[in-house]
Amino acid sequence: MKIKIDKQACSKPLDCRLCLDRCPEKLFGTYPGRLRERGVAAGDWVIFAMFPSQCTGCLECVSFCPQKAISVT
Ligand code: SF4
Ligand code: SF4
Repeated sequence: MKIKIDKQACSKPLDCRLCLDRCPEKLFGTYPGRLRERGVAAGDWVIFAMFPSQCTGCLECVSFCPQKAISVT
């Protein structure tokens, strides 16, 4: 499966978390969008699909995303 995420539409994935929590395969992850520095809290989290080959195409993520930021083909 090909999973695309519009990162502009999903600007605060850790505030939403719907796809992170509801994907039955737990395929989504986040990483800090700005360079990490020791002692400075990470921020600007970005969401991505870690294991797209494991996607079953159930489309739960697409239907739950309030920003319509995810497409699965
Ligand atoms: S389509 Fe289903 S299995 Fe695939 S990423 Fe979305 S929720 Fe997860
Ligand atoms: S459900 Fe949509 S808005 Fe929420 S974290 Fe996932 S991609 Fe972002």
